[in-house]
Amino acid sequence: MSGCHSNTPPSGPEPGISLSLATKRAQSIESLSYELSFTIPAAPAEPITGHEVIRFSTKNVTEPLVLDFTAAAGDLKSVTVAGRPSQYRLVPDHIIIPAKELASEDNAIEINFRAGDASLNRNTDFMYTLFVPARAHLAFPCFDQPNLKARFSLELTVPKEWQAVANGAETFHEAVGDQVRVRYAETQPIPTYLFAFAAGKFQVETAERNGRWYRMFHRETDAKKVERNRKAVFDLHASSLEWLEQYTAIPYRFGKFDFVLIPSFQFGGMEHPGAIFYNAASILLDESATENQFLNRATTIAHETSHMWFGDLVTMQWFNDVWMKEVFANFIAAKIVNPAFPNVNHDLRFLVSYYPTAYAVDRTGGTHPIRQELGNLNDAGTLYGNIIYDKAPIVMRQLERLLGPEKLQAGLRVYLKEYQFGNATWLDLIKILNEHATLDLTSWSHAWVEEAGRPSIRTVIEGQTGAFVQSDPQPQRSLQWTQQMDVLTGSLRDNTSVPTELHGERTVLNLPPNIGKPEFILPTGGGLAYGDFILDDATRSFLLQHLPEFKDPLTRGAAWVTLWEEMLERRVQPANFVSAALKALDTEDTEQNIQLVLGYVDEAFWIFLSDNQRKDIAPKLEQVLRTGIDRAKTSTTKATYFSAFRSTVTSPDGVAFLEHVWRRQENIPGLKLAEPDEAAMALDLAVRSVPGAASILEEQRGRFMNPDRKARFEFVMPALSENQGTRDAWFESLRDVKNRRREPWVLEGLQYIHHPLRAAQSEKYIQPSLDLLVEIQRTGDIFFPTRWMDATLSGHNSAAAAETVRKFLADQKDYPLRLRRIILQAADDLFRASQR
Ligand SMILES: [Zn+2]
Repeated sequence: MSGCHSNTPPSGPEPGISLSLATKRAQSIESLSYELSFTIPAAPAEPITGHEVIRFSTKNVTEPLVLDFTAAAGDLKSVTVAGRPSQYRLVPDHIIIPAKELASEDNAIEINFRAGDASLNRNTDFMYTLFVPARAHLAFPCFDQPNLKARFSLELTVPKEWQAVANGAETFHEAVGDQVRVRYAETQPIPTYLFAFAAGKFQVETAERNGRWYRMFHRETDAKKVERNRKAVFDLHASSLEWLEQYTAIPYRFGKFDFVLIPSFQFGGMEHPGAIFYNAASILLDESATENQFLNRATTIAHETSHMWFGDLVTMQWFNDVWMKEVFANFIAAKIVNPAFPNVNHDLRFLVSYYPTAYAVDRTGGTHPIRQELGNLNDAGTLYGNIIYDKAPIVMRQLERLLGPEKLQAGLRVYLKEYQFGNATWLDLIKILNEHATLDLTSWSHAWVEEAGRPSIRTVIEGQTGAFVQSDPQPQRSLQWTQQMDVLTGSLRDNTSVPTELHGERTVLNLPPNIGKPEFILPTGGGLAYGDFILDDATRSFLLQHLPEFKDPLTRGAAWVTLWEEMLERRVQPANFVSAALKALDTEDTEQNIQLVLGYVDEAFWIFLSDNQRKDIAPKLEQVLRTGIDRAKTSTTKATYFSAFRSTVTSPDGVAFLEHVWRRQENIPGLKLAEPDEAAMALDLAVRSVPGAASILEEQRGRFMNPDRKARFEFVMPALSENQGTRDAWFESLRDVKNRRREPWVLEGLQYIHHPLRAAQSEKYIQPSLDLLVEIQRTGDIFFPTRWMDATLSGHNSAAAAETVRKFLADQKDYPLRLRRIILQAADDLFRASQR
């Protein structure tokens, strides 16, 4: 550390980027630009050195300036302000420049530094940046917040056999010894999380589409594979780009358009303007790729291209609105891509992808609003979860139905134009849309976006028609949700869909005159309505009896989702639910519905049926599943049935059949069982304590050809041991963070140690798992706390287990709110099942 002769007291801003720091800086700093250069050696162990000049004006020259940089000792080589050495101070995550060194205009801070590697993803032969949400300051000093957009100029010096790519177009290229120096055009104003570059041994493919040149950087060695995918990948980018230019009436504003295919990239894609990064495996598909994989690829490309407008051109003010750019990118991508896949039932796909998972959180005591508070960007990771990924798309579709597609498009055009190259909040958009709406969108948005939970909606059949009565499950709030529903009603033979806008406390169904008194009213019939639906008795028994007879697969899917919620709320007996589901599987031929129903059956079977009920229903269940395996027309449906069978089999005959299959003494025609399937069978046989379980595990261990899968299996094996002491020791070992590094391995072991068949012996692990959660959050990946709690609790349904969780929450008065929510979400089924 150098230059520490300041008189400022040795306190400073909190680590990370707090909302108050970001707000203050956004109000004072203007005309920001960065001139950056990095020298990147080939060997990942050698440091990357950097030089930068930060230029800006400021309205605040009375207080010290806070820059963000996570520096290790010696990383900061020199800092000068206006050409003179700075008397700066270093605190965790920040460099503090004294106020007296600042001017209101033309400030230039020049810094020589060693770049931190944490966000530079350095591999042998290549590296790439990934700065979202606020990881740029781990590599270089900057204002690391989304609402200080800046122009970036970049120069890279890399080994001469490397390629390099950045946001801007290449303007200069010269060889310097065994290195090459490349300069890039200054960018449009962009935030730090979108600034990016990649360098390494890449091959470059180039293509022209409608006068625009596109480049694809990749490391694929299979030339045939590249050739097979090449045209489609360029076409998909070009058609997405043209669609968006037309929809938004704003041309693409970031100059050139490159994309980089990165092996084992952290996400599906990242929308850096001018240089999108993708996970290579989801773009270059194998010959065996399924229609779903083609659909997913097209969706990913359209999603990232949509971000060029939604997120890149107009950026959220703060990461609490990160959901907004994601939901728009998904929404637009569906519009671009779906028409090209006419064989897929997109409405059913939307229903089964989003509703069950959104409800799984929104029905619990741990739910939260779509728009959450975020005090510090260090916590940005905790915003992500089902509410953002699954509820937000449902709410966005509601918004389009309320406004109509034309008005929504018109509003979005105004929003993009008004805020281009700037930042905006969700409320800024709502203000614009309000001018196009007949309904007050501010209060609509308040209920759907800024408050947690879902409406309770009761159906009533009265006189010759029906009605809906809505209430707030938190009565002190008395919220009212306005929404569009496609209500299915009538009789089995003669039913019709009635578009209905639900608002206020009571909405009467406006039946067409030719429809008599309804035998049922299904508000979710068109797959649109969202809420906790409390069905009238006639509708409920109608569904239990006739659900499979509905012609439209979307109606069947939506009815199953509704019945499952009814079961959780104890308005349908679990045994009745399972019986109805097994009956339906005889005739259900839509793969998406089969998957949905089998998932429900599995959970009901293990968690909501009593031991006796389970014994009674097992033979019938296994017979339905084995018939399903035989009858299935596609290998994916066969695999779905088989994995449901493997997971729920309990009868001696059924278990013996599973063992025969695992021993390769029996074949399932049309189903190829690969190494991971055999491993799962071995674990499922072991958890059932079949005779010789230990030798089955040993034999399975010997079968592995793939060393990674073998290592994972060996890690999980002790959690399946017949010996309680071995299982105790395995669980104890998780206290050491080193043993939790491979999170998917840990989760698989936890699921088996807490398997319903062993729940009584594993109840004692619940308390220590809760005790560990704070540390799990500190040391693990962003999704690990939720998955840790899910794996811990999903096998339990006893009153004692529920009591352990309740007592923990009651005792921990100052427990972090976000973790309390995670526990309440994970414990929801346990709480419900234990009350039966
Ligand atoms: Zn995205």
